[in-house]
Parts: sequence; structure tokens; C-alpha cells
Amino acid sequence: MSKQVVKEKSKENPIGCTLDCSVVKKCGSCSYGKETYEEQLRDKQKMVNVNLNGFCRPEKIIGMEDPFHYRNKVHAVFAYRKGKIISGTYQEGTHDVVFVEQCRIEDETADRIIATLRDLLRSFKIKTYDEDTGYGLFRHALIRVGKATGQVMVVLVLSTPILPSKNNFVKALRNKHPEITTVVLNVNNKKTSMILGEKETVLYGKGYIEDELCGIRFRISSKSFYQVNHVQTEVLYGKAMEYAGLTGKERLVDAYCGIGTIGLIAAKDAGEVISVELNPDAVRDAIHNAKANKIKNVRFYENDAGRFMTQMAEAGEKVDVLFMDPPRAGSDEAFLGSAVTLSPKRIVYISCNPVTLGRDLKFLTKNGYRVEKAQPVDMFPWVEHVECVCLLSKLNA
Ligand code: SAH
Repeated sequence: MSKQVVKEKSKENPIGCTLDCSVVKKCGSCSYGKETYEEQLRDKQKMVNVNLNGFCRPEKIIGMEDPFHYRNKVHAVFAYRKGKIISGTYQEGTHDVVFVEQCRIEDETADRIIATLRDLLRSFKIKTYDEDTGYGLFRHALIRVGKATGQVMVVLVLSTPILPSKNNFVKALRNKHPEITTVVLNVNNKKTSMILGEKETVLYGKGYIEDELCGIRFRISSKSFYQVNHVQTEVLYGKAMEYAGLTGKERLVDAYCGIGTIGLIAAKDAGEVISVELNPDAVRDAIHNAKANKIKNVRFYENDAGRFMTQMAEAGEKVDVLFMDPPRAGSDEAFLGSAVTLSPKRIVYISCNPVTLGRDLKFLTKNGYRVEKAQPVDMFPWVEHVECVCLLSKLNA
């Protein structure tokens, strides 16, 4: 069956479609190679139900109408194989590069830009980096697309800061893709599986892109976290706001705030927002985002969320609503213990890992909170991960 046919079918009946990808096994990014979208949603629902068993009965998972090409952030590693420049992903558990010519979950513009980069490397005679020998220049490309604004960032990750014929290279790239709004050169000279290195220079444009979520405009730089699925992020944040039940007066904490998204969206319905995030680049973006959107009741702190919450608790502060959106590892007891001391009436826990969510809910429910409801949202079609927003309320509040 051709790709085109499957795509058309998916529009008619998204739940009946399958991934239909020829490199699914080798690439390893997607876990649902054969299952239909419906089967996948059922599986994800089960994952959430099992981990939340005993806390609450989760709502039905919200899937996507069109579960393809949703990823707004696309990474490709470049390599040289059999006289040809290839790009794609690392084969799972190895450093062998799997050639991915087309990906069904990545943004299509980003994939076209990556194809152009392969051509340009050839015509500019730029060598790809070889991980074994440490020779060669071009390591990775990272593309970020603002789905609402159409802005596109291309990050070229090189092993040294010198890109030969830099200006002509960028010009050729922009000629082919006028939608590119910024090009950044990132230097990664370490033997590491991390994609981005520390040092960056802007080759074209502002060095960041902007996107819009829930009516607010956000600036996003290369190293800041930003949700990869625009459509489902609005669904998720909408649920989080509904669960928070804000009346305009509350004192909020937005922990693990990234570029400030949740707190800035909540700010118009709150008295005061206190946001904390560890990554300095994300905090810089967040401060800019508050100013650019003329939001004055939000303060940002660059700190470990656990340490910050402990300091707040020791200072005898109180909070009405806590939003928390930790990474996959979940939160820690320093954070959760202090959260309990700060005594919010409601906790809105946004989780990308039901296992650590279950673990953290165990702590909170032993310490004066009850799980009211949970809404799984499919943020990562075809990928094993599942997102879930959960509402807890304080007993005897
Ligand atoms: N709420 C944001 C970001 C969620 S991702 C959004 O929806 O876009 C999790 C964030 O937690 C990332 O930005 C990461 O940099 C940050 N983070 C990871 N560990 C942290 C810690 N110990 N303390 C504070 N922030 C942390």
C-alpha cells in the first residue's frame, strides 16, 4: 500500500490507520509499528490506568485527529556511508546511523530542510563528523518549527566553530527554504551523545523562533524545552487550566516552568505567579516572554525546583495552587515534602511518565492529598510515551 493511500485513509478514519514506516524497527523512535492508532490509544490508556490504580479512574485518553507529522522539533544526525551522506537517527542502543529519508511523525518542512542540508554538504564538500575517529565537521541538525507562526530555526551542530563558506552556505539554504527565520551555529566538540554543545553563534536572524499557545506568544531558543506537539499541548494546557479552577486571586507556583508557558497562560486568571526552572536559557526566554506579552504578575526563579520549594516552605510561605510539570524522572521528596508544607488547595500535576507519576502520587496521597481526576492526552502518537494531567486536592481544605 502506498504512503499516499494510507494518509488519505488516515484522514477518513484516524483510529484505523497504522504508522506504515519502512525503517520503524531500525530507527526505534516509534514503538507502535504495526498497531492501529486505536490499538495504540487503548494500550496507552492501560498504561495510565495501571499506574493510577487505587488513586482514581482516569478519563478516556484524548487522541489526535491526524496523528502524523506533529513533531515540531526534529533532530538528524549526519554520517557518511558507502560514498553517500546520510542523515537520520541512531539505531537503538548503538551509534550506527539509520538513514531516515522521510518520517511520518516529524514536521514535513523540517524533513525537507534536512534533505537540502544533505545536498548542500555534498556541493560545499563539507565532511560529516565521524564519531570513531573524531574527524569531520558536520554532526547534527536540529530544526524547530513554530506551528502557529510558521517560523523556522535551523541549528547546525559542528565539531569546530568554522563552517567554510559560511555566508554562501546559509544563503543557499535560505534560497531553497525562505521559510527559515533563523540559523544558529552550535559547536559540539565533545565525544558525547548529547546533541548540542555549549557555544553558539547566530548566523542569520534572531537566534530563536516564536510560537503561539493558548493565545500567548512564546520565544523559544535552541536549548529551551518546548512541547513537541502543538495541537495536543493546547489540549493539555486547557485541561490543566480547567483543573486549576482559578478565580483571579490565587497565588500560584509553576514548577519546572521551562519557557514559562503554563504560568504565563494562567497569569490572567491569578493574583500572582511564581515560576521556577533550572535551565538558564529557558529562564531567559521566560522573562522575555512575560515582558513581550505584558504580563506583570509573574516572577521567575532560576533554581532547582526542590531546593526552591524547600526555601519557600522554610520561609513560611503559602500557595493556593501548584502546577508541576517535571521531566520523566518525576519529582523528588525535597520537592514533594515542601509542596505539602506550602499547603496548596489544589495540585495540578502534569506528567510525561505514568510510572513516576504513580510514585509521586503515592507520596502526596500519604501526606494529606486526594487524587480527584486524571486526563491522559496523547502527545506522542506512535511513540511509547504518554502524557497525563492529574488534579489533587487537599483533604480538609
Ligand atoms: N512546563 C514546561 C516545561 C516542562 S519540561 C512546558 O510545558 O513547556 C520539564 C522542565 O523541567 C524542563 O524545562 C527542564 O529544564 C526543567 N527541569 C528539569 N529538572 C529540573 C529541576 N531539578 N528543577 C527545576 N527545573 C527542572
